[in-house]
Amino acid sequence: MRIAVRDGSALLLTSKTTAVDVAAASGGRFGPDPLSIYEQWEGFTVWAEAFTTSEADPIAVDPRELDSPSPAARQVFGIGLNYRKHAEESGFPVPDQPPVFTKFLTSLAAPFTEVTLPPGGNTDWEVELVVVIGRQTHDITEDEAWGHVAGLCIGQDLSERILQMADPTTQFSLGKSFPRFGPFGPWLVTPDEFPDPDNIEIGCSLDGEEMQRTRTNDLIFSVPLLLAHLSSTVTLLPGDVIFTGTPGGVGLGMKPPRWLAPGETLVSWAEGIGSIEQTFVKAK
Ligand code: ZN
Repeated sequence: MRIAVRDGSALLLTSKTTAVDVAAASGGRFGPDPLSIYEQWEGFTVWAEAFTTSEADPIAVDPRELDSPSPAARQVFGIGLNYRKHAEESGFPVPDQPPVFTKFLTSLAAPFTEVTLPPGGNTDWEVELVVVIGRQTHDITEDEAWGHVAGLCIGQDLSERILQMADPTTQFSLGKSFPRFGPFGPWLVTPDEFPDPDNIEIGCSLDGEEMQRTRTNDLIFSVPLLLAHLSSTVTLLPGDVIFTGTPGGVGLGMKPPRWLAPGETLVSWAEGIGSIEQTFVKAK
């Protein structure tokens, strides 16, 4: 099942290019607010699986018109150094527990966006698998974890490296929270759609040149481990978003480092999900 959001309303995709409006198709039982759908996720999925397309008028879906699949998430988590090659290129040891930060809510953005590069900044790309939570989650085991996930998206954890690494203790959450620094989508795909949700190929290219490519079975801390770890402290809420970490191949690790430039186009993709696209402009 695939869920998209357009103009604040949840859509249930009925093909790669069509959808139905959830509120209209369910006679007002679910939606239109996407967060309310994640809060009623079990009932919603039962309804959506039984729904047949003949019951409602299809709407044409253009990914460029969509918002992110959880635009009003209440908590947004980022995970650092979650692939060995990225830890090495960043000059950090491979961690023995996941480094956690937040991307503030206002950095979340639609899948197709224009992003203003902060002035004088060294802004970098980070393609990441993004998890959206489907149940209130506290202190769960790894075995329970996939049952708490609504679905998966592809995202970018855009990062301004000067602010991110600022003294005295680093400022990860600020350096990753400029406007539109957290695009994800283009829609949410439920875990049952994947042959193995722990082994999905993701990647990104800049102006057509491949920068990152990996499979998520190379994560140091898998999605189930991350949910068990985070929920041992925090209560995860329906609609919460987790950026699960980026593989090797970011600009910071290049010699010399390479940063995003005005006019460039960044395309990020995941097997079984689709792609998102960011273009960059200079700050005025
Ligand atoms: Zn990241």
